[in-house]
Amino acid sequence: MISMRNVSKWYGPQFQVLKDCSVEVEKGEVIVVCGPSGSGKSTLIKTVNALETIQNGEIVVDGVTVNASKTNLPKLRARVGMVFQHFELFPHLSIIQNLCLGQEKVLGRGHDEAVAKAEALLKRVGLSAHAQKFPGQLSGGQQQRVAIARALVMDPVCMLFDEPTSALDPEMITEVLDVMVELAREGMTMMVVTHEMGFARKVAHRVVFMDQGEIVEDALKEDFFGTPRSERARNFLSKIL
Ligand code: ATP
Ligand code: MG
Repeated sequence: MISMRNVSKWYGPQFQVLKDCSVEVEKGEVIVVCGPSGSGKSTLIKTVNALETIQNGEIVVDGVTVNASKTNLPKLRARVGMVFQHFELFPHLSIIQNLCLGQEKVLGRGHDEAVAKAEALLKRVGLSAHAQKFPGQLSGGQQQRVAIARALVMDPVCMLFDEPTSALDPEMITEVLDVMVELAREGMTMMVVTHEMGFARKVAHRVVFMDQGEIVEDALKEDFFGTPRSERARNFLSKIL
């Protein structure tokens, strides 16, 4: 579903942020990406929906080559849902409007259809009562669940998450992780940057460990937590577990 082959990226002429990274994510697979701060996790995940360009290598999502000049980026981004650390909802739009905008503008859905879809997804994340509110009136955890719903209304083929819970107060982390766990169990293809190893243990199939722009390990969850091969991964795990 997501195929990254020998991806390299530089910021400026000198600094290579991604070094020959290759990752394959099968349909229905959940991959957790972890590693120290600055290792390139956000950059890697953003290349999948072309929020970051690459200089070398190839990225194919559901048969579409992301880094081809003719690729329709708005369409691609609709098919590849992304949820960031900060919720990035449109503050001046109500929750329901936030959920309808992309459906109408990018997918060309009619308003009634868009509203029906939005209401169904809001129900699924437990926020039906808040449809008419504005983002600023919701808690961080609620806003993040809206952000997930906003990605899901587009019927994405896969979902990318970049530290979706790291800006949240502890009591709100669970409500967001619960939505993600359910999504994973329903078979959504997911690439998740997170340090929530409880989530990784519960639903990840594989763990990708990055350090200094390299993919140091790409292992089955059991192997990664049981016997990480590299010193760097052992070091990292000893700090966060
Ligand atoms: P964190 O865990 O802190 O979120 P990360 O693993 O997501 O870190 P990235 O945000 O991908 O790391 O950044 C990787 C490296 O690239 C860092 O050294 C960062 O300073 C650098 N970097 C990120 N964005 C840019 C940019 N636009 N221009 C130049 N350097 C950048
Ligand atoms: Mg990051």
